[in-house]
Amino acid sequence: MRIREQRKCFKCDKEFSELFRCRIDERGNWVFMCGICLEETKINNLFYQYGGTWKAKKS
Ligand SMILES: [Zn+2]
Repeated sequence: MRIREQRKCFKCDKEFSELFRCRIDERGNWVFMCGICLEETKINNLFYQYGGTWKAKKS
């Protein structure tokens, strides 16, 4: 069996099997962040926009 695919959090650079897609600055680029970083980042962030949840596929 293959190891589950993981992605790195944009902010803390740790790997997760579930991340949250969001925009966090005026450039409007989509980034993936873990739940902890997301909570921190969205406070007082005028550019914050949630774009869905990414989950690793089991294979
Ligand atoms: Zn993080």
